[in-house]
This record gives sequence, C-alpha cells and structure tokens, in this order.
Amino acid sequence: MAFDSLSEKLQEAFQSLKGKGKITEDDVNLALRQVRTALLEADVNFMVAKDFVKSIKEKALGEEVFGSLNPAQTVIKIVNDELTALLGGTQSRIMISSKPPTIIMLVGLQGAGKTTTAGKLAVYLRKQGKHPMLVAADVYRPAAITQLQVVGKQIDIPVFADETPGANPVDIARRAVEQSTHMLKDVVIIDTAGRLAIDEVLMDELSNIKAAVRPHEILLVVDSMIGQDAVTTAQTFNEKLGVDGVILTKLDGDARGGAALSIKAVTGLPIKFTGVSEKMDGFDVFYPDRMASRILDLGDFKTLIENVQGAIDEEEAREMAKKMAKNNFTLDDFLKQMNQVRKLGPLQNIIGMLPGMGQIKDQLKDLDLNSKEVRRIEAIITSMTAAERENPSILNGSRRKRIAMGSGTQVQDVNRLLKQFEEARKMMKRMQGLRGGKGGFPGMP
Ligand code: GDP
Repeated sequence: MAFDSLSEKLQEAFQSLKGKGKITEDDVNLALRQVRTALLEADVNFMVAKDFVKSIKEKALGEEVFGSLNPAQTVIKIVNDELTALLGGTQSRIMISSKPPTIIMLVGLQGAGKTTTAGKLAVYLRKQGKHPMLVAADVYRPAAITQLQVVGKQIDIPVFADETPGANPVDIARRAVEQSTHMLKDVVIIDTAGRLAIDEVLMDELSNIKAAVRPHEILLVVDSMIGQDAVTTAQTFNEKLGVDGVILTKLDGDARGGAALSIKAVTGLPIKFTGVSEKMDGFDVFYPDRMASRILDLGDFKTLIENVQGAIDEEEAREMAKKMAKNNFTLDDFLKQMNQVRKLGPLQNIIGMLPGMGQIKDQLKDLDLNSKEVRRIEAIITSMTAAERENPSILNGSRRKRIAMGSGTQVQDVNRLLKQFEEARKMMKRMQGLRGGKGGFPGMP
C-alpha cells in the first residue's frame, strides 16, 4: 500500500518525542526535520513539504506544546490536522444534477486507469441508487471499445459505443447523452481517449466533447505510481480543460504517496476517489481525515466499520446471535461466518485500519484467510450430510474418511476443521457467559 514507508518514517520521527514528560524546542525541530525528510522521500513536492513543516512548527509553538501534559500527543494532533488539510480538508463530493442525466467525463493519460475507473464509478453510483451507463469515446486505441464493453458486461452496465471506422468522439458523446433518457439512465459516464503524453490534438478533442455535452463533472484519472508527474499532469489538464476533481488510481501499489499529498496543495484540485485494486470493487471515496489518520497510524475506524457493515448481513448476524445464545451454532453457520470475514478483504488491510498496528501489518501476511482455504472448508462442510452438519459429534472415523474423499481433501483436513469449529464454539460459549447469555454480535471464529 502506498504510504507504508512514509507512515513508518513518521512514526520514527515521533518516537523521539514519545515518553518525554517535557520537550524542548530542539526536540521539536529534530522531529520536524525528520518529518520533512520523510515527506521528501515520499516524493512530496519540495515547496509543499517546506510549507507543511513550517506551519506545524508555528502551531506547535502557538499551542504551547512545551507546557502540555503530553507533548508528543499534542504534536501528533497538530500533524494530523495539518495532514488532513493538506489532503483537502473535507470530503469533496461529485455533483449530481437535479435534472438527469448527470454527465461525468473521465479524462487522463493512457494507462492511468480510465476504463477500469469508469466501471468502478458506475458500480459505486449504482450502489447509491443511480442508473449509470458507460460511453466509449476512445476511438483511437485499438481495443479500447472492446475493453469498456468487457467491463460493462462484467458489471452488467450498458455501454454506448459506435464501432464504425472514423466515428467522431464528440458525436458519440452527444448521441449517448441523447439516448440516455430513452434508456432510462440518469448518469452518463464518458470514457475518453488518452495519450502517452499531453498533446494539443487530445486537448482540443476533449474541449470539443466538453463543449458539446457540458459535463457536470470532469474527473481526471491519474496514476499515483507516476509520482510528481501526476501533479504536473493534473496541473496541465486543469489549465487546458478545467477539471473538477481527481481520481487517484493504483494506491494499492508501492507508490510512495507523494502525488496524493501534493496534488491539492499544488493544483487546488480535490481528490474525490481512489483506486485500490484492479477489481471493480477496488474503489474508495477519498476522505482526507481518514487518510491522514491512517498515514499517522492513528486508525481508521470509520472505514473499518463501513467495511464490516458492507460485508455483514445484519439479519443474518441477528439470527446467528440468537443461535449462539441457544448454543445452536452449527457447521453451516461456521461456514457463513468464514465467508463474511473473507468479504472484509485481506487481514492486512483490516489490521492497517487499527491504531498502532501499521508496523505489524507485514507479519500478518501468512495469517490471511484466503479464498483457497475457505473453498476447502466449504468443500468439506458441503460433503457432510445435513445431520452431520447439525451434530458433528456423530462424525466417527469412517464418516470422516468419506467426507475427505468427497471433498478431495485429507482426513487430517477434516479433523483440523472440526477442531477449529469446536474452538470457535467454545469461545462463543465463553463470550455468552461474559455477556450474561444475552447474545449480541457474533464473535468471529
Ligand atoms: P486507461 O488506458 O486509462 O483506460 O487505463 P486502464 O483502465 O486500461 O488501466 C490500465 C491498467 O491499470 C490496467 O491493467 C488496470 O487493471 C490497471 N488499474 C487501473 N486502476 C487500478 C488500481 O486502482 N489498482 C491497480 N492495481 N491497478 C489498476
């Protein structure tokens, strides 16, 4: 994940302040020098880093860090506030027109992730209750239209395209917007052509599309892996075309994060979303405060809770709590829980959202409940009869052998699963005891 190294370096910088009952101006200066180095190493724009540190220093002196009870915490709080401001302050939403359709134009260099992002944005908006459609307005890159059609098919969103040779992108965009009402679509997402570098022809074409359809949002898709070039790209696109916001892709890679930290300060453009995987659900709304907390390893409970809410079916959770209260938790329920936990994504990501856990994240790589394991567990459980699933105590040696055969696993695998299940059940019993048997949120196995 981008920011990992920056996060580590910032922790080191604050380490020297922690545990001190009193700190001197020299201590603060030393820590801030380390902060500045960390920012520069993360590829943050030089001027941005300089101003950032200067402003923290002023605040630190102003807020009388030196007299405060916990000076390190006070400094970290100031850094957190400043980092939030640097990232844009508050969440910047996209404009949804009160008169449909809302027209969103995605622009950016080739390979930035426009086509992928078009699909992700459509999925995101559909979850918000909208009815989006996609428009293939890149008629130059071979296979660009097909790529968007593949994405559309995958997510079940209609794609407007014209494969006639020589078709004009401005005309395609205009026709797509006209069609949208007949198609009962209220958001039109236009995937435009990119180039390896910015050129006049491209800018002219984008300006013509803009003039023809008057988009409510022009979103620039930039690849965070290109570092400072992302900032320059954003600046140029904004000057030549006028842009409403940025979608920063590939934050899951090992980009150093400098682009994210400099874009708003240098260009004034807010980051509205981030791309965090190649998959269609790898798309996050960008919240400056949450990102700052994550970078400083202060935890991001809001996102964690949202992810948990998204992954866990409340009705099912209530059912499960009831079963636990009656001690009726079966292997079927166990499997359901496994699947829910898996939906939360890699354990590393979850742990990364907890405060102070950033540093141990890497050690957790091996602990992931990956889909292969869950599939094996699923195979074993589904190879059991209903009676066996309800009451695993009847599983003697020959039944276990039959289940292993049926699920393509070994008897040891079946034994291990049954042991895990017993452990989970015991733990739940203990938790019930602690809660006075009132039930509640099911514990995770
Ligand atoms: P376009 O040329 O701007 O339309 O870019 P594409 O949508 O074709 O994306 C270029 C490559 O980047 C593809 O291989 C995508 O799968 C990949 N990609 C796009 N967004 C992300 C992201 O957020 N994370 C990762 N890891 N890969 C991404």
